[in-house]
Amino acid sequence: MNSIVHRFAGTIKFPTVSAPGSFSLEPFHRLREYSASVWSEVFSSLEMELHGGASILLKWAGDSALEPVMLAAHQDVVPAGESGKWSCDPYGGEVLRNRVWGRGTIDYKCGFSGMLEAVSLLLAGGFKPRRTVLFAFGHDEEVGGLCGAKAITESLITSGVVCSSVLDEGGYIYSDPDGTVTAELAIAEKGYASFRLISEAFQGHSSVPPDRTAIGILARAIVALEDSSMPLPYVPVEISSSRWLQTTIAPTVLSGGCKENVLPGKAEAVINTRPSPGSSVAAVHEFIESVAEPFGIAVELIDNPSISEPSPVSSTDTPDFKALKTSILHNVAPGTGFRCGIFPAATDSRRYSMVAKNAYRFLPVCLDQRGIGALHSVDESISISDYLRCVEFYAEYISRVSSKS
Ligand SMILES: [Zn+2]
Repeated sequence: MNSIVHRFAGTIKFPTVSAPGSFSLEPFHRLREYSASVWSEVFSSLEMELHGGASILLKWAGDSALEPVMLAAHQDVVPAGESGKWSCDPYGGEVLRNRVWGRGTIDYKCGFSGMLEAVSLLLAGGFKPRRTVLFAFGHDEEVGGLCGAKAITESLITSGVVCSSVLDEGGYIYSDPDGTVTAELAIAEKGYASFRLISEAFQGHSSVPPDRTAIGILARAIVALEDSSMPLPYVPVEISSSRWLQTTIAPTVLSGGCKENVLPGKAEAVINTRPSPGSSVAAVHEFIESVAEPFGIAVELIDNPSISEPSPVSSTDTPDFKALKTSILHNVAPGTGFRCGIFPAATDSRRYSMVAKNAYRFLPVCLDQRGIGALHSVDESISISDYLRCVEFYAEYISRVSSKS
């Protein structure tokens, strides 16, 4: 048991950080070397391909006449931020008070390490998958997966591979304020789009301001957006009780003005949105315009590679879904509920969906009431029992899903 935990803790010691403008492949190479040494039987039994510089595709070959199935986990982590705010070394991989501490322990090295450990256990037990199992370990999910997940996907498209499903991060075990605990399997994820609000007004001396300034107009429009909400889209009944149903609209960047006694002629805000399944980037654009234009504000879509439409809603009537649900229910604590839902952020599964008929998102880790907000925060940590549950869950899921025809 200890060696399972320490192999995992070892992966935290590699600062595989991906952030705009800061990217080194060297920690990824060292993480791969480490993984190939501590899970040597996995790396010698499965076929490995490297894509996009540091993304890993492992293939556990089964009957090539049957559809393969995919599991995905990204190796990269967000920066630790101000390390002084951590109560431990974010890249120390410390095991203390029944927890493993450090950046990536939940998001998402417990998946990367947990899957390798599960394969290792299955190999030791002589298990052979009936159909092929692919493991996709991207290296730039936190900055959009434009290099890793995209390169893996393109190579699978070139080889004509279509998987029955991909299992990625996303849903978790949530404890709600009323004390109920529920495992939420996300069968859809939101899209991503940012918009620029542009306010233009009189530029001149601040001693003689007009009634409405560029900054004041912009502020009113932002408040109006915060006070409004998009009409709910039509969604299938399976996700209708999701807590993340609503499209979110959040101001994230403000700019305007260059000197304290000059009225700026222009002020701008960036509004980041997450369109819900059933909605679209175009519908969100239209909605923001309908709120902001009466203030005289121009709205434009910020064209960048991160734009994505909300995902389709995956089927709950497939053998893979059933294998997943059974594996979840076997591995959560008694009394834990189960529901399908929507994941509010983007994952690499949006890229893998091009080579997978369905995308499911679940990690059997308990998130407290801070929920997903805790993931990129300081003092990221996972309980040893949660990590061991990940390993057992992956081992059960892989053996169930790969045994089906
Ligand atoms: Zn993640």
